[in-house]
Amino acid sequence: MKKQDRKQHYSGIRTTAIHGGEGPDPSTNASSPPLNMSSTFVSEEAGSFSAHDLKEDSPWLYGRWANPTVSMLEKKIAAVEGVEDALCTASGMAAATSIFMTFLSKEDHVIVSDVSYAGVAELARDTLPRFGIETSFVDMSDLKALKSAIQSNTKLIHIETPVNPILRLTDIKAVRKIATEAGALLSADCTFSTPLGIDAKKLGIDLIMHSATKYICGHGDAVGGIIAGSRLLIDKLRVEASIHHGGIMSPFNAWLIARGLSTLPLRMEAHQQNAMKLAKWLEKHPSITDVKYPGLKSHPQHDLALSQMNNFSAMLSFQVGDEEKGKLLANKMIKKLEIIHYAVSLGHHRSLIFWMPTKDLIEGSFKLSKTQTRSYKNYAGEGIFRMSVGLEDTEDLISDLDRVI
Ligand SMILES: *Cc1c(COP(=O)(O)O)cnc(C)c1O
Repeated sequence: MKKQDRKQHYSGIRTTAIHGGEGPDPSTNASSPPLNMSSTFVSEEAGSFSAHDLKEDSPWLYGRWANPTVSMLEKKIAAVEGVEDALCTASGMAAATSIFMTFLSKEDHVIVSDVSYAGVAELARDTLPRFGIETSFVDMSDLKALKSAIQSNTKLIHIETPVNPILRLTDIKAVRKIATEAGALLSADCTFSTPLGIDAKKLGIDLIMHSATKYICGHGDAVGGIIAGSRLLIDKLRVEASIHHGGIMSPFNAWLIARGLSTLPLRMEAHQQNAMKLAKWLEKHPSITDVKYPGLKSHPQHDLALSQMNNFSAMLSFQVGDEEKGKLLANKMIKKLEIIHYAVSLGHHRSLIFWMPTKDLIEGSFKLSKTQTRSYKNYAGEGIFRMSVGLEDTEDLISDLDRVI
């Protein structure tokens, strides 16, 4: 028996994150997974060269088709998500593009969350229509609005929960029901919730998408994306998105991200603990006018958070009043913060914070209607500080913030 093929008798998430998809290297007995950078593989028989000939037991052929280190990460994430297969992409945006370009064609209709990662919002709004794809943008917390946006050609509903950057939640079970009635696929950007935060398979998400750049990698040193789901859907993505469109993850990034994923369950426990303490401290601070964190009782959808989230993650937002006050504080943070980095991105071991003015985002990225703007402002007022709470000591984070707020 090849050591790689040994049976994996375990069920716990920590064991799965550490041992899933990997095993001692059969050629060297190395305990840690090797980094295999080879872009091509020596063939042992004459064969054809079409993506459609790819089978599960096909020999390694070429790095854009599959690579042992990237496949190891794909198996690991599939094991953690409890689904059949996964595909790694060059970035989270490449994962979103792969989903749209694989499962939508000319004259199809897609419904996208009206607030989402800005890159996804702009891709759906500016790029998809150029390919003859119809788009609608819906506040996914408004199920009536979602139902009335359904058309006979609706092929895909794309949600995000909690939504970046305002931390509004989407009721996945309810949206799943609407998608099923419409005969549409459901894809969900689960970057903020992480594989630990929601049981995406149980909730019926067809295409589980992550920017692996964030919590899954966890250390801020690799960009990547992941889509997990059934073998049928992932096979389709592998042919279109990887082999044809070409947006593959580099083996080195896969190696770094797999190393990060191994400790994700432990990190998410610590992340959540830190975020909860910080959110409670912020709520009591006299200069803070609002805090949003799904784990707080004050979050407008806290009940939904309790029912569908197993971990509240560590993304929170807070407000300090109007836009002017926000901008002033942002400038103070840039100069005075000593531990927390004033930077975009999220999910790293280091804490990150960034000022996000409402007007800029609504006018630049989201182009919201009046009703949608009202819902946005319910969560974000005139602007929020989006904070990705890291793994430092809570007391140090609090004193760093306390000096500037
Ligand atoms: C960062 C992010 C993305 C994009 O991922 P990249 O790896 O930066 O391309 C997509 N969705 C969400 C929710 C994100 O936070």
